[in-house]
Amino acid sequence: MANKITQKTLSFSQSVNMMADRAFKVLDMDPGVAAAIKSCDSILQVNFPVTIRGRIEVFTGWRATHSTHRLPSKGGIRYATMVDQDEVEALAALMTYKCAIVDVPFGGSKGGLAIDPSRYSREEMQLITRRFARELIEKGFLSPATNVPAPDMGTGEREMAWIADTYKQLHPEDINYSACVTGKPLAHGGVRGRMEATGRGVVYVIREFFRHPQDVNAAGLDGGPGGKRIIIQGLGNVGYHAARLLQEEDEARIIAIVERDGAIINEAGLPVEKLKEYIIQNGGVKGFPDGKYIENGNTILEMECDILIPAAMEGQITEENAGRISARLIIEAANGPITFAADEILRAKGIPILPDAYVNAGGVTVSYFEWIRNLSHIRFGRMGRRFDEMRGEHLITAIESATQGTTQEWLKNKIIHGADELDLVRSGLDDTMRMAYQELSSTLHEYDAITDFRTAAYVIAIKKIARSYFDIGVN
Ligand code: GLU
Repeated sequence: MANKITQKTLSFSQSVNMMADRAFKVLDMDPGVAAAIKSCDSILQVNFPVTIRGRIEVFTGWRATHSTHRLPSKGGIRYATMVDQDEVEALAALMTYKCAIVDVPFGGSKGGLAIDPSRYSREEMQLITRRFARELIEKGFLSPATNVPAPDMGTGEREMAWIADTYKQLHPEDINYSACVTGKPLAHGGVRGRMEATGRGVVYVIREFFRHPQDVNAAGLDGGPGGKRIIIQGLGNVGYHAARLLQEEDEARIIAIVERDGAIINEAGLPVEKLKEYIIQNGGVKGFPDGKYIENGNTILEMECDILIPAAMEGQITEENAGRISARLIIEAANGPITFAADEILRAKGIPILPDAYVNAGGVTVSYFEWIRNLSHIRFGRMGRRFDEMRGEHLITAIESATQGTTQEWLKNKIIHGADELDLVRSGLDDTMRMAYQELSSTLHEYDAITDFRTAAYVIAIKKIARSYFDIGVN
C-alpha cells in the first residue's frame, strides 16, 4: 500500500509529531505556528571520557530542549543502551505537551546516556554521572532556572543526588542550587511522595475516569475500579506503584504482569508486593510460585481484560500486535508505548486510550512541587500544620459543648489531623490529575472532529502553548 504509514518508516519522534498533527488539523492551526511548536529548540550531544578500571571509556549523552515558552524546561534523564538522539527528542516533545496538559508551568526537555548501568559499580556510576552532569551544566543545559532534569528509566534518587551535588560544587553562590534537579532523596531536598508519584497519578487517572459514566460506558465498562481485571506491562517504578495501589486501595484484580523475561498470569489476582520482591531477588518473573509463567510475555498484552496498562517503554504496541489487542481500555503509563500506526488501528477498533502525555504526568507534577519546595526552602506544611490541628481541636470542643455530645474517636482524629507534606503532595497530585481529566473529557465531547482522548489531549496542550506564542510573539 503506497501511503500506509508503518512502524518501519516512522521514528519515535515522527510518531509523536504525527499524533500532534491530528490536533493541529482539528484546530486548523497556521502551519508556521505548528512547525514552531513541533520543532525541538536545541539539542546537545556530549562525548566524554571516564577512566574505568584503569582504561578510558568514552560515553555519549544527549539533552534535548524541546520548548522554552516556560522556563525551566523539564524532563528526566534516561540511562539505557539503546538510547539515541531521536528518542530523546521524542521524549522531550512529550514533556512539552505533558506539562501543558496538567498546567505545570515548564517547557519540555529530556536527556539520555547510552550506557548499561548493570556493567558498572556504584562508584563508577557516580563518576560517570558527575561527569555527565558537569558537561550539561557547563554547556548551559542544567540549572534551576533553565533546565531541570529528573529520574527516568535507569536512573533514580542516587543519580539525582550526585547531579545536585555536582551543580552545588560548581555554583555554591546559587542559593537555589537544590532546585537544579528533582527526584532527589529526602535528605537532599527531595519531596515526600515523588517516588510513587507517577504510579499514584495513574491510579488517580483511573479513579477519575470511572467518575465519568459516559466515558465508562463508551469503553464497555461499568462500576468503579474495584474488581476490574487489569494487565500491567512493566513492574518498574511506575508499574509497581500503580499495581500496588490499584490492588490495595481499589481492590482491582491484577490478572497478569508482563516483564522482560516473560509474563505471570493469575486470574484470581497476583500478589503484587510478593512478585516485586521476587523480581528483585531473582532478576525476573520466571519461577514465581503464585501464577502461571508464559515465556513469550508480549502475547499477554493481547489477552482479554478490562484495563491494559503498558508501563514499560515505547514501541510495545505496534501495527504487528495492535489488531489483536482485546482490552476494553488502555492506560498509557509509559511514554510512547503505542506507535502511531498502532494507534490508528486501535482507534478504528474503538478501544479508548488514555494517552501517555496525560496519564504519566504525575511524575512531573510532583517534580514541580519539589522544585517549589526547593525555591521556598521550606517543607510543605511546616508553618500551618500545628495551627490547623489546634483549630480542629477548638472546633470539636465548640461542637461538643454546644451539643453536649461526644465526637467519635475516628472522626475526631480526622478533624484534628493537620496536613503534612505527604498529604499535601497527594492532594495536589489528585487535584491536578482530576482537573486535567475533566478538561480532557469535556474537550473530547465538545469537538465533533475529535473522537479520541489522545487528540483531545494534544488539542488542549497545543492551544495553551500556541497562546503563549501569540501573547509573546515570535522574534
Ligand atoms: N521522567 C519523568 C517523565 O517522563 C519525570 C519528569 C520530571 O519529573 O521532570 O515524565
